[in-house]
Amino acid sequence: MSGASTIALAAHRRPRRISILGATGSVGQSTIDLLSRHPGAFQVEALTAQRNVERLAADARRLGARFAAIGDEARHADLKAALAGSGIEAGAGRAALIEAARRPADLTMAAIVGYAGLEPTMAAIEAGRIVALANKETLVAAGPLVVERVKACGATLLPVDSEHNAIFQVFDFARAERVSRILLTASGGPFRDAPAEALARVTPDQAIAHPVWSMGAKISVDSATLMNKGLELIEAAWLFPVPEPRIEVLIHPQSIVHSLVEYVDGSVLAQLGAPDMRTPIAYALGWPDRIAGPAPRLDLAAIGRLTFQAPDETRFPALRLARQALRAGGAAPAVLNAANEVAVEAFLGGRIGFLDIAALVASVLDEGPAGPLTSLESLRSVDRRARARANELAQKR
Ligand code: NAD
Ligand code: MG
Repeated sequence: MSGASTIALAAHRRPRRISILGATGSVGQSTIDLLSRHPGAFQVEALTAQRNVERLAADARRLGARFAAIGDEARHADLKAALAGSGIEAGAGRAALIEAARRPADLTMAAIVGYAGLEPTMAAIEAGRIVALANKETLVAAGPLVVERVKACGATLLPVDSEHNAIFQVFDFARAERVSRILLTASGGPFRDAPAEALARVTPDQAIAHPVWSMGAKISVDSATLMNKGLELIEAAWLFPVPEPRIEVLIHPQSIVHSLVEYVDGSVLAQLGAPDMRTPIAYALGWPDRIAGPAPRLDLAAIGRLTFQAPDETRFPALRLARQALRAGGAAPAVLNAANEVAVEAFLGGRIGFLDIAALVASVLDEGPAGPLTSLESLRSVDRRARARANELAQKR
């Protein structure tokens, strides 16, 4: 059977078999919320988490999953105890996360945060799955390798990131050469209008309190620095056949227009909706059909005004750094991603200031050409070196 017809079958099977990598996180829990609203439509194969045994076991039981995997090996006994008598298999460690990704499923939600999601996400891709991709860091760090594996293994990527999901919904793939621009919208984060001096004193709690979206800690900090939009720029460059100079960023504080695609005739198509991740997730769960989603309906009269402004790359240099890495190509985006993950963790741990995040990423990026990205092995060594260097620099600050 050809890859395409396998995919078509997987997309139409009822109940649809689904696995969720990163089930206990913000995207994972939104996915589970949707599954609970569609009883009988989905059958859960595998769920994974890194540490939260209680949540993982409770959801696995409630959803009737076949397999639950906890990343932290030390919690294997706890997970087995929590699943005792349920008939649900319990696994632990990296190998179990990868097994969860490889088990048969019609759809795999890749919702682990950060570079840690690379191997499990790649395992699902190599199994030829339809992968609903939330884990953007995988595409940022390993773009060329992911794209090559998707093609070679007959997998399908469905973007879950709200902007990319919006673009996916209005992008005419049959006439990609008629697209003149992609406009990625950004809320601007909690410090959109803060003066430059104030940014130096920002605390982790302030950075995590996003004005519009409710998300995990890492992506919330990325949204505050605008590195999230930088990562999304790189993500878009791999997902859509549009050259980098024609992918632009537009600040849109209300987060109602989730991104726009401009065509050569001047038409601009956009997808709109309330800022609720359950809408793009529902799109991925239903694709190529649509399923009912619970997000509040858009009341444009009540909203009244939608505003847009150009991004300020002086106060938010992360955006410029990401474009620089994308242009440099090869392993540069992997270096950017690794340095950023280390910097965000150091900021959340109170070891560096808010402005140090982008400064640290810039220093690591500027240390020389990152070289080509030829294999997962070369990626691992690039990632390791960039992390070590970022940690050294974080200690000096
Ligand atoms: P989160 O921190 O809320 O959840 C992360 C999940 O990954 C958890 O289930 C956790 O157990 C698991 N995890 C963490 N570290 C791990 C490790 N080392 N190994 C294996 N699993 C690990 O994150 P989130 O906000 O749900 O984001 C998940 C991904 O989706 C990120 O890549 C993020 O950029 C992307 N995303 C999130 C949102 C959102 O609204 N939260 C929107 C768009 C894209
Ligand atoms: Mg996004």
